[in-house]
Amino acid sequence: MPIKGVKLCGAKCRTKGGASCLQPGMKNGRCKMHGGCFYKKEIHGRSTLRAKAERKKEHAFLREMKSLLLDMEQLNED
Ligand SMILES: [Zn+2]
Repeated sequence: MPIKGVKLCGAKCRTKGGASCLQPGMKNGRCKMHGGCFYKKEIHGRSTLRAKAERKKEHAFLREMKSLLLDMEQLNED
């Protein structure tokens, strides 16, 4: 039963013919069945927020290095 003032989850149910979920949502917008575990996020491992941010930074660095390398190769060809 939906609670007034709380945003509903709205995830698509696979069992109810694609109807959207009517459970009240948590902070992340999904209910406890569909939102996953979000209150114990920062523990350890590869899916913590910190690990994700670090990986993102590393990817950006690698991309920058790659473009730099391409630039250098182009300079050498000229
Ligand atoms: Zn839900």
